[in-house]
Amino acid sequence: MNPANLQTNTVPIDSALSAQPAPRSPERRAAPRPWQTPPAPVPAPHLDDYESIVGAAELSELRFLARELKGKTVKMVNSTAVGGGVAEMLNRLVPLLSEVEVATHWDVITGGNDFFEVTKAFHNALHGAPYELTRAAQEIFLAYNEQNRQRMQFTEDTVVIHDPQPAALIAARKDREPQANWIWRCHIDLSNPNPQVWGFLRPFIEQFDVAIFSSQSFARQLPIRQYLFYPCIDPLSEKNKELDESVVRKTCDEFGIDRSRPIVTQVSRFDRLKDPVGVVQAFKMARKYVDCQLVLAGGGASDDPEGAAVLKEVQEAAGNDPDVIILDLPPWCALEINALQRASTIVVQKSIKEGFGLTVTEALWKGKPTVAGAVGGIPNQIIHKLTGMLVHSIEGCAYQIRYLLTHPEFAAQLGKNGREHVKENFLMTTNVRRWLLLLRLLQNRTR
Ligand code: UDP
Repeated sequence: MNPANLQTNTVPIDSALSAQPAPRSPERRAAPRPWQTPPAPVPAPHLDDYESIVGAAELSELRFLARELKGKTVKMVNSTAVGGGVAEMLNRLVPLLSEVEVATHWDVITGGNDFFEVTKAFHNALHGAPYELTRAAQEIFLAYNEQNRQRMQFTEDTVVIHDPQPAALIAARKDREPQANWIWRCHIDLSNPNPQVWGFLRPFIEQFDVAIFSSQSFARQLPIRQYLFYPCIDPLSEKNKELDESVVRKTCDEFGIDRSRPIVTQVSRFDRLKDPVGVVQAFKMARKYVDCQLVLAGGGASDDPEGAAVLKEVQEAAGNDPDVIILDLPPWCALEINALQRASTIVVQKSIKEGFGLTVTEALWKGKPTVAGAVGGIPNQIIHKLTGMLVHSIEGCAYQIRYLLTHPEFAAQLGKNGREHVKENFLMTTNVRRWLLLLRLLQNRTR
């Protein structure tokens, strides 16, 4: 590939979304490209479908744990039915719990744009963004929560409220089923919240029986019991299921990736906190010593002005390097992401700040030697030199890429250990087990 072809390696989202041909060679444009249109939804798997992955014993354990809960009812409440990790997870968790006869119902709160603007601002503020909490914002938050409280029934034995948006529904416990267990499942990082917003939400959270966080480092001091539930991935989803070698090959051909040479990949939104420019710099340092290509697969750049700016910075950092392949993909490209991760020799996630870092979970599950920033939930997943390599700088990242590419046996061992670690801790079936254990614990407690 020569430098003039660089732009052929940057596949913009708008070309994917419109009927415009992508700026690639004409013979490629002629063929229909699978990643340009959303695929049909895939039916949810059943518990037995996981047997080949986790084994029959694990599934028997789940059924055994569920036996004592038979007939119990659970309501899950969140703020969106589609899009985002929480909805994706509930889409799997709810049918699996129901399948083991813990009748689980999923309700989504409704609200106007004003509500979702306020809750988006709360979300950012809880992640530490500056924000002036106004009386109007508080009133909007409370009014929509109250509206939803009146609309919904709360007759279940356990109510699980996900994230801050529906937190004020806790008001319903007083008048409906005072004996029910109320759980707040917090998926966000509360380690450094805006004090005004946290000060406003905290009194609601303190009325729950239990709070669940995704990492020790995301939790707050609270007067209620707290549990640690790691996020999880579904090994049967389009993103993570086993793929035929032909699918991996076809995807690489489609994106102009040379499979005869080592491939270093980072999959991430084009966001400064994911440090894609740092990845390009680390790659260029490592490549002085060892032959490799870099794939940066991301998305969201065309509907997010900041994403577009970051994408531009990445393109500038890449310059006319034909070995840097930048892919700006539409959001439905789970299968393509899966194939790219599987095609990779090494996966990088050089984040500067991170939530849990599901891309790391996905890479480890695929047995990939992974180099990642020691931030957020990544150290829960990467035990340095055992399940992957943790880095703190561009130079460190370059060093580890070079080291792993020149020590393939060690790299392969990391990949194996990483997959085991995910199997043990971060799969959907583990998540079901955690829920069953918690439900049993709450059922047996004395108030
Ligand atoms: N992802 C994707 N397409 C992209 C970029 C990311 O599907 O272009 C997926 C990625 O595979 C992972 C999720 O988005 O499942 C990102 O989760 P993570 O926790 O790593 O980071 P976040 O974007 O939530 O900060």
